[in-house]
Amino acid sequence: MLFSEVAAVFDQLEDISGRLEMTDILAELFQQAEADDIGKLIYLIQGIVAPPYEGIDIGIGERFALEAIAAASGYSKARVESHYKKSGDLGDTAEELLQKRAQTALLTSEMDLEHVYSGMVKIAKASGPGSQEYKIKHLTELLNNASPLEARFLVRFVLGRLRLGVGDPTILDAVSVAHAGDKSFREKLERAYNICADMGHVAEEFYKDPELIEKFKVQPFRPLMPALAERLSTPSEIIDKTGKCGVEMKYDGFRLQCHKKGDRIRLYSRKLEDMTRMFPDVAGSIREMEAKEIIFEGEALAFNEEKKRFFSFQQTMHRRRKHGIDKASQEFPLKVFAFDVLYLDGKDLTQKSYRERRKLVEKTFRKKGLIQPSGFRLVSRPEELKQMFDKAASSGLEGIMAKDLDAPYTAGKRKFAWIKLKKSYGKSVDTIDGVIVGYYLGHGARAEFEFGGVLVSVYNSDSGTLETVAKVATGFTEEEMVDLRKMLEKTKTKNPADNLVFNIEVDYWVEPRYVIEVAFDEITKSSMHTCGTRHGKGYALRFPRIVKLREDKTAREVTTTSEVADMYRLQHSSGFR
Ligand code: ATP
Repeated sequence: MLFSEVAAVFDQLEDISGRLEMTDILAELFQQAEADDIGKLIYLIQGIVAPPYEGIDIGIGERFALEAIAAASGYSKARVESHYKKSGDLGDTAEELLQKRAQTALLTSEMDLEHVYSGMVKIAKASGPGSQEYKIKHLTELLNNASPLEARFLVRFVLGRLRLGVGDPTILDAVSVAHAGDKSFREKLERAYNICADMGHVAEEFYKDPELIEKFKVQPFRPLMPALAERLSTPSEIIDKTGKCGVEMKYDGFRLQCHKKGDRIRLYSRKLEDMTRMFPDVAGSIREMEAKEIIFEGEALAFNEEKKRFFSFQQTMHRRRKHGIDKASQEFPLKVFAFDVLYLDGKDLTQKSYRERRKLVEKTFRKKGLIQPSGFRLVSRPEELKQMFDKAASSGLEGIMAKDLDAPYTAGKRKFAWIKLKKSYGKSVDTIDGVIVGYYLGHGARAEFEFGGVLVSVYNSDSGTLETVAKVATGFTEEEMVDLRKMLEKTKTKNPADNLVFNIEVDYWVEPRYVIEVAFDEITKSSMHTCGTRHGKGYALRFPRIVKLREDKTAREVTTTSEVADMYRLQHSSGFR
């Protein structure tokens, strides 16, 4: 497959936002792809060269991309830079400057997808001394052979700014449509994706033989998409929904998916990034376990022995960064509360009921050390659930997780298999996770920090758009505000994100990359915000304040518009029973 065909489709995708139309365009492209190409093609659409747990990051900064554009176009760096200042998008700059070159340059040879993909892998894998020069040289070579349109997407890709607005569900639909003309394979594809988190691999296998994806099994070192919880606002609602259920303590720590096979141990974050180096103490403890092969999940958090209280997620991670991992491990020893086991000594447990998996959690972690089972109780009545909740609250925990005893592990899905009830529910405070899309400069007392807050969006999964829900200016300390501003400065863009729907302006737009948790008192309707707009008014958070940066979430995983709508309805439901 030629890369020019891919670039032409990317160009088409930029002008549309409807999922159905996107699916059809992608399906047509996928039909042209051979089994060898499909995996690479899908990675490129996702803006990656490998699944996240492999930790292969392209790692080209603007300055280096700029140098490569200068070398390939024959224009000076200053000229490229001044063009970029006007265009606000280095991809556009590369396209236009190469356009001018193209009229005078010799014929370039057409690149195929394989060539572009392996070039990207080489760029991504280069490390150590001299690697930046190597990356620039390789990118220049690719640009030398690229048409102006191809250059636009190559540059955006290496900068991590492809932003085609195509979500994973659309890609899965398109793979099915390409093969069968309809979405009949969608569910099977999705299941396979959820248990290996590698869509390129799933599509490759599917192209070899559609039956292969039905045989997908959970395997060590191929992390699964984490199961997610729904929320309800009262103990009675939970019991009405599930009947008798298992109730666990809900710990506000760092979710770890732990894999072990023989001596090899890997720990993955909620985003499925490899975090093994960050938690040597946890890895050591897993090494000592009897089980030879295991995949389990738990929540890691630091324990303050003196006060007999847990540190929050934020404090846990902060300590590790600031004081170094070894020192932090001694001073603030971690505990991991195991809450699920997904694979044990060759057996895939994801289809077993939670009742059976919970028994295995207790059996496997019965020796209480660094890792121990999460607090658990079987309950049938709302009053019992409320007792567990009060116990959690009095230990300084976030709340409880109620779990359906008959449910399998719902990888990658937000289902009522797990229902969370947090400390704040039923009272006036709740939280959302939103992505920062822009920021404001400070005025008055805040002018000194040059930071006056952020504009936050949620994700509308039906339309694929980002919709604003709050302007947040409080919650962080001065030091945290300065850090946040510095981070955001590096992702400034001239224009708002392509898929952002907004009614209010900011001082600076940024790439939609950083996720923050925002607490609020109530959801209201306002013409300022665009979340779920009806009759000119969208949902808006009242008294929003930043709780923390959610480094463990990607921009694709923020709260959705329909969840905000549910929360709006929930707040009008009866009190905490
Ligand atoms: P979500 O993960 O649902 O998108 P979130 O990341 O904001 O939302 P919460 O809404 O607080 O997290 O609840 C889900 C998280 O709770 C899980 O991802 C997990 O990290 C954590 N957790 C803590 N204790 C448990 C437990 N006993 N069982 C399952 N998850 C738990």
